[in-house]
Amino acid sequence: MDLHVGDVVVLKKPHPCGETRFELMRVGMDVRLKCTGCGREVLVPRKKAEKSIRTVEAQAGQEAAEREAEHV
Ligand SMILES: [Zn+2]
Repeated sequence: MDLHVGDVVVLKKPHPCGETRFELMRVGMDVRLKCTGCGREVLVPRKKAEKSIRTVEAQAGQEAAEREAEHV
């Protein structure tokens, strides 16, 4: 799955606050997701994150993708 920092994803399971849309704050071995509802951040293993993502709602700009690629 193609994930980039800044992408907004919709998860299958909602956050405890009820929000299902999360923004990707970091992508690597682990993925840091920021809840767009309450602003909390969660860190999950990438494989688990990919399984729990229903759709990628908004793709980040190419610039962010290239910047992230340098860290992987
Ligand atoms: Zn939340």
